[in-house]
Amino acid sequence: MKVTFLGTGTADSFEKAQSCVMFEKHKSDCIIVDVGNGCLLRLGEVNKKPFDVKAVLVTHTHIDHTGDLLPLLKARWLSGVKEELVIFAPYGFKNWFQSQLESNPYLREKLRYEIIEVGEEKFEVCGFKVESVITKHSVESRGYIVDGVLVTGDTSPFKELYEKDFEVVIHELSLPSGFSTTHTTPDNLVQFSDLLKDKIVYFTHIYPQTLEKIDEVIKKIGFGKVVSDLEWFIRG
Ligand SMILES: [Zn+2]
Ligand SMILES: [Zn+2]
Repeated sequence: MKVTFLGTGTADSFEKAQSCVMFEKHKSDCIIVDVGNGCLLRLGEVNKKPFDVKAVLVTHTHIDHTGDLLPLLKARWLSGVKEELVIFAPYGFKNWFQSQLESNPYLREKLRYEIIEVGEEKFEVCGFKVESVITKHSVESRGYIVDGVLVTGDTSPFKELYEKDFEVVIHELSLPSGFSTTHTTPDNLVQFSDLLKDKIVYFTHIYPQTLEKIDEVIKKIGFGKVVSDLEWFIRG
């Protein structure tokens, strides 16, 4: 399995795409976790076509995680894709998505998709074994473990998340210490060092004020690596 960081930015990034991680096993098929603004451009840069994305796992509805969802669905429509895009998402997503369509009535009858709202459950999609985990953010949110790789989405750290079965974690690291209780900061993360020190940890979704002092932040945390758009790794 190849895992590619398509978007590692945040809502105020100008040089990175917003949240998106791609998982692929076969030649062209892939699934993605989140579909933030800039994701379509990055998919093109790794030679993917709208048809190649078989499923989207949405962590939550904030715009830096969903901004390219309607554009992806529209690109599939314009490309003549008949297959429905499978969208896994937290409870309440169907209503949110309906409100997006009400703002864009010309898309209503055109887009092909299936929305599956998930709590804490295990399922398979496109040959990947996935576990959804309820996370702790300012809106209903999920993390997803895809074949042993946990993508946290936006969340404050908590013990039960790290007790799940995974070897690699793609973890948000939004803000410096003291700035937030619904995101990850160095202070709230280091409390769980014992549970994470034997894992492979990649940090993403880093706000500019954290990036400014990233060396100091990583030193304080004591583990993990910061990643940028289009970096990738192979697993299994
Ligand atoms: Zn968020
Ligand atoms: Zn975010």
